[in-house]
Amino acid sequence: MNIGVLALQGSVKEHIKMITSVNKKIGVVPVRTIDDLASVDGLIIPGGESTTIRRLLDSFDLSTPIRERILAGMPVWGTCAGLILLASHIDGESTYFGLLDVDVKRNAYGRQIDSFVADGDFDGMYMPMVFIRAPMITRVGDGVTVLAEHDGVPVAVRQGNILATAFHPEMTRDSRVHKYFVGMIDSKD
Ligand code: GLN
Repeated sequence: MNIGVLALQGSVKEHIKMITSVNKKIGVVPVRTIDDLASVDGLIIPGGESTTIRRLLDSFDLSTPIRERILAGMPVWGTCAGLILLASHIDGESTYFGLLDVDVKRNAYGRQIDSFVADGDFDGMYMPMVFIRAPMITRVGDGVTVLAEHDGVPVAVRQGNILATAFHPEMTRDSRVHKYFVGMIDSKD
């Protein structure tokens, strides 16, 4: 199995390390080209700055090929900025991939200085959740399952092959969300 981490900007190294810690046999590919993308069975879109990542996705001609792979069923996981890019509606901005039926509001938890860690339940697993200028999920569509909440607000969601978290599991030592994502790829028919 090969897992790609979109490697244009953001917390790329941290995700690569986490996937390797889940299982050393999994190949991890930093994705920057269409060929890189073709070699992976699942893709992580990391946190960072969504405006920068969307601009780079356009200039690396990766937008359409990634969108097509997601539509064809490739498991994808967006963390933070990645969630913003996947969302079907972004408050005050145009959408990017628009494939995950949620509304998000960027930076709704406050500025960098308001970053925080909270313990919470992700699909029955209690874990630390790191929020860094996180987007807030303000609406969840009917076909979307909420996997985690913070203060009653969804912070992890899944819609079929699409997983998204407002928080950053790669910034902790807890690799269980990475393991969950590997499970999504494993169970894909
Ligand atoms: N604030 C960033 C954005 O709006 C997301 C922050 C993150 O990915 N840690 O794109």
